[in-house]
Amino acid sequence: MSALSELNKEIADCHLCEIAKYRTKVVPGEGAEDAGILFIGEAPGWHEDQQGRPFVGPAGLYLDQLLASINLKREQVYIANVIKCRPLSNRDPLPVEIQNCRNWLERQIEIIQPKMIVTLGRYSMAMFFPGKSISKIHGTAQKQDDIIYYAMYHPAAALHQQSLRRAIEEDMLKIPSLLARAKNMTEVKQQPKQLSMFEA
Ligand code: URA
Repeated sequence: MSALSELNKEIADCHLCEIAKYRTKVVPGEGAEDAGILFIGEAPGWHEDQQGRPFVGPAGLYLDQLLASINLKREQVYIANVIKCRPLSNRDPLPVEIQNCRNWLERQIEIIQPKMIVTLGRYSMAMFFPGKSISKIHGTAQKQDDIIYYAMYHPAAALHQQSLRRAIEEDMLKIPSLLARAKNMTEVKQQPKQLSMFEA
């Protein structure tokens, strides 16, 4: 069994949070184990909870279209979430849930070793760009420890708001050139929250 499948089994056994009691299925994540790009959303919704797979509802269909716009299929990337269980009534994740799940995400990153981490939405952004505002930093990247961190709006938000939709589509189109330029990108040594952003 691969390291990631082993990890996903451990995630499926996790009952640290109250919401684990109410889940239909845990949603660890899916995609290529050696993916160059890791997309990180917020939390499973109803559809994801039913299927045990990330981004399979309307936001997921839109994410598939966004991926197709840069000639990628979801099998070629890895898709995960900040938390692995569905919050009741689709409420926002609680700080304790994010904290409890943090270790899973860190271990996923260690195993996958992506070249690029794309945060989708505020909760995911806050883990890597603490204190920043998504309206200011979406479409910008920073490189640290050989990983490019890139913030985007959440596809669910972009689906319903025309201005965000334009932004998320433009931001997605910047990904291939960012990856191509990765080697020449300046590595920033400080902690992410002290980093200066640069436009992609
Ligand atoms: N929204 C998310 O953030 N993640 C999913 O998996 C589905 C919808």
